[in-house]
Amino acid sequence: MIYFDNAATSFPKAPQATREALLCMLTNGGNPGRGAHKLSLRAAEKIFACREDLSDFLGVGAPERIIFTQNTTYALNMAIKGLVKTGDHVLCSELEHNAVMRPLYALQKEKGITLDTFPVIGLGDEQIMENIAARVGQSTTLLVCLHASNICSVSLPIAKIGAFCRAHGIRFAVDAAQSAGHLPIDMCAMQIDALALPGHKGLLGPAGCGVLALGEDLSLGTFIEGGSGVDSRSNEMPAAFPERFEAGTLPTPAIAGLAGGLSFVTSFGLSTIEKHEKELFLAARERIESLAGFEVYQRETPGGVLLFNHTAIPSTELARQLDKAGICVRAGLHCAPRAHDALGTPAGGAARLGFGIFNTHRELDALWRTLKDLP
Ligand code: PMP
Repeated sequence: MIYFDNAATSFPKAPQATREALLCMLTNGGNPGRGAHKLSLRAAEKIFACREDLSDFLGVGAPERIIFTQNTTYALNMAIKGLVKTGDHVLCSELEHNAVMRPLYALQKEKGITLDTFPVIGLGDEQIMENIAARVGQSTTLLVCLHASNICSVSLPIAKIGAFCRAHGIRFAVDAAQSAGHLPIDMCAMQIDALALPGHKGLLGPAGCGVLALGEDLSLGTFIEGGSGVDSRSNEMPAAFPERFEAGTLPTPAIAGLAGGLSFVTSFGLSTIEKHEKELFLAARERIESLAGFEVYQRETPGGVLLFNHTAIPSTELARQLDKAGICVRAGLHCAPRAHDALGTPAGGAARLGFGIFNTHRELDALWRTLKDLP
């Protein structure tokens, strides 16, 4: 199989991720934070070590502000729903995933928030900033946007947006689902208040764990309540981070795997990963555009994601034919219908290549041969 669906989840995983997750299940049988016996303590140490690594990698500056969640979606829901109140005005970009849009739509209904979208496609940083400034009002309390799109290789000027939000007293939440492990992130330097990301994509860890990193001066109400292993007589969740936000048993094997994936990514280096993905993009674009009837969207922005279509073949059919040839790609709307509208894809969406560090140019040759011979 040739796997070009790394924007859905990465595969294969880093060898260290698989090894650490397995080792954890073989040797760290205890429940972290639930008991003082050796196996529980060992699991808790693993988890704390992963918090420390993530805090360093993401420029968070405090491991206890790394909160483990199920996935990015859960982390974004915690941040968005924790940060807005009735009547607030929220800004987001036109490229957002449903993991951002659906919580916002729910809040429109439930809390009467108002929502504005700023354009990104075809604009430089300055124009993006002007568009943001033009939409800010008295009641704007939150700007939430992705760092990198999951349907094309466009990324947003996060540090500039962070500085703008800080200067205007607006909270800034970032969806780093497609950038973590692909692009540098420094939460403090970029002045991000809440950062959400998955373990299972660019950080090459197993599914089952995501991260919400909270900025220094930010607290949220609890999202769910339950056992935390501390202060059990209290009717409320503890005030201390991260326990306040981590009710119930944590997925220790997934977190251990994430630590393994992160060590692989850091030893490889983000700049090497970025360079490799850009090279794959350019090579794939050249091959696809050499064939009649194919179109590449956002062709001038190389990176880890390439979106394409054929004028006469629906994207789902393209994906089906590629699958028959042993090549995994994802077709359709990729949970980002508004982003597809911004790129002008047809109603059925488009086919997406999501590159990863393990993809090769030889695999692109196989893709080209299959596309060339499509019935
Ligand atoms: N946002 C973006 C930009 C994504 O690409 C994804 C995953 N495709 C998500 C959010 C949701 O991530 P998860 O599946 O980890 O909840």
